[in-house]
Amino acid sequence: MIKENLEKVRENVHRAVERSGRSDSDVLLIAVSKTKPVEDLMEAYDAGVRDFGENKVQELVDKYEVMPKDARFHMIGHLQKNKVKYLIGKTCLIHSVDSFELAKVIQKESEKKNVITDVLLEVNVAKEDSKFGVFKEDLLNLVKEVSTLKNVRIKGLMTIAPFVENPEDNRQYFNVLKRLGIDIESQNIDNVSMGTYSMGMTGDYEVAIEEGATMVRVGTGIFGVRNYSLF
Ligand SMILES: *Cc1c(COP(=O)(O)O)cnc(C)c1O
Repeated sequence: MIKENLEKVRENVHRAVERSGRSDSDVLLIAVSKTKPVEDLMEAYDAGVRDFGENKVQELVDKYEVMPKDARFHMIGHLQKNKVKYLIGKTCLIHSVDSFELAKVIQKESEKKNVITDVLLEVNVAKEDSKFGVFKEDLLNLVKEVSTLKNVRIKGLMTIAPFVENPEDNRQYFNVLKRLGIDIESQNIDNVSMGTYSMGMTGDYEVAIEEGATMVRVGTGIFGVRNYSLF
């Protein structure tokens, strides 16, 4: 089932990439495996997936320890400062940095381990109360602050769009995120690149790609619905 789902998602990604005038290598499909058992991740791995998305530090670390070494783990969920120390060195990219305080902890733990940690800044474009992320008005300031941290490298932006019936309703938010990145890029801030736009989930990844996503985070569309009560 996972293999068939993957084929369908990849085909959809491919078509959206073509519509956006880019090539397949411009968009990375992240298989969001939160709550799913390692057997499911291995099924995806055997079908060629190397990038997995998790939203809890403990779960990410547990899976990192047992999965093949070339599997990469993206931290896509809200990150608590006291958990950062367990995560550093085990994630390829933290998508959810939304405060200087958090970035400073990532700096401290990365320095200890002598690594550079790649991060995205999470923007709450739609200003939903239920979501984390910096407001767009505060983004440039956060970029400038984080850019001073030697062991933290800003690679781009991430957003979680509202839950909607019609994915077209989210096009505006993806478009705003992309334009925010282009704006920041034009300022040529040291230690900052804006090449990565992590946006789009099962319900809206095609629209996100059309609007310039370079990473899409697809869970349900690959692994099926999640059962939180069993986990
Ligand atoms: C769970 C999650 C996803 C995947 O959601 P689906 O709708 O199952 O594709 C993507 N991004 C984040 C941040 C998530 O927490």
